[in-house]
Amino acid sequence: MAMLYDCLGINERGHLTIGGLDTVSLAREYGTPLYVMDEDYIRRNCRIYKKAVEKFFGGGSFPLYASKALSFKHIYRIMNEEDMGIDVVSSGELYTALSAGFPPHRIYFHGNNKTDADIKYGIESDVGCFAADSREELDCINSTAATLNKKQKAILRVSPGINPQTHRKIITGSVDSKFGSAIITGQALELVKYALSLKSVDFAGIHCHIGSQIFENETYFETAEIMIKFIADIKGETGFEIRELNLGGGFGVRYIEEHPQIDYAAMIGALAKRIDALCAAYNIKRPEIKLEPGRSIVAASGITLYTVGSVKEITGYKNYVSVDGGMTDNPRYALYSSPCTAVIAGRAGEKPDYRCTVAGRCCESGDLLAENIKIQPCSRGDILAVLVTGAYNYSMASNYNRIPRPPVIMVSGGKPFTAVRRETFDDIVRCDM
Ligand SMILES: *Cc1c(COP(=O)(O)O)cnc(C)c1O
Repeated sequence: MAMLYDCLGINERGHLTIGGLDTVSLAREYGTPLYVMDEDYIRRNCRIYKKAVEKFFGGGSFPLYASKALSFKHIYRIMNEEDMGIDVVSSGELYTALSAGFPPHRIYFHGNNKTDADIKYGIESDVGCFAADSREELDCINSTAATLNKKQKAILRVSPGINPQTHRKIITGSVDSKFGSAIITGQALELVKYALSLKSVDFAGIHCHIGSQIFENETYFETAEIMIKFIADIKGETGFEIRELNLGGGFGVRYIEEHPQIDYAAMIGALAKRIDALCAAYNIKRPEIKLEPGRSIVAASGITLYTVGSVKEITGYKNYVSVDGGMTDNPRYALYSSPCTAVIAGRAGEKPDYRCTVAGRCCESGDLLAENIKIQPCSRGDILAVLVTGAYNYSMASNYNRIPRPPVIMVSGGKPFTAVRRETFDDIVRCDM
């Protein structure tokens, strides 16, 4: 039976495997809830992006891993070894990356409201580039860089006014978005001119990120057209040729059988063709292209293992399968109603014909992992695996209800190791006075 991705499988005992390892044994060894990630699969995805961006966009162009999708020290070591750039959206992510030895010149600092302290820390740390979101940020970058006797590279986040087909909470490039400055209102052009006037800012280009979980190439083509037309307008208005165009991330990931599986290399190839044609049509030199995949690098490599606690059948209504985790380790259903695939790890080869809602253990009715899905029949003590949890799970985890965060176990070359240890109750009270 196909299990969405080839890092997952079913062994001779009928158990779900990840990176070749038996998930029932992993749950027994490390306890639940448990994040398990296939490191080799993450590296494979990095190489797909890296090769495609270099092949289709050439020198100077490279992919940045959007590290908010999954952030801890070991991820940054992997990204460094794979020669990826990264983007960070906070001083905390920057600190984590630097602690893991990630080279600062390949770091982009994003976010819609960087504080003075964020900007100072970023410039002092020699981050490669800021994506400035507002006039206030440009001012702060300029004055801080001047004080530190530096010239800081920055690009400007603009909003192309695109509304992709995705959940409204993950649309980020519409005109009325909190992110960036709108092109259509003329504010983006004003800010570009302003950035060019700043002595301690090395203004290099423009950035957009239109949203997440986007499956249609056409959406990226439209975005590219708006951005390249804007680059031509900037050239016409100021004579300045943008060196760098950063198109953000958002590439869709298959969470359920019904989702398409995107060929990211082919998508990048098609995008490159469009960009070349657009640059020719608008008579500009093709800028360096940056892409920022987050979800599509790490999502498919991860699963979460839980222990089933109860199976509650409300006759005539519905069935609840409750597990020992929930919105504290995976808030995606509570936030975005996102669909997922789940299996009973010890019976993964059997027909999933038990219809149920999978509930977490928090004191919230909204603490659900999935509604109305089909899994194998189960009872207390069985291991339930939620698939495709590598992105926006661990990085969004909380201690609500004072529940300790699960560990992250990585698998590489068929061997498991602890990348993040399980939180203890002492960790939970660490900051309490
Ligand atoms: C979140 C984000 C990304 C990554 O989005 P994915 O959907 O995870 O690929 C890239 N760039 C920026 C600026 C972001 O905020």
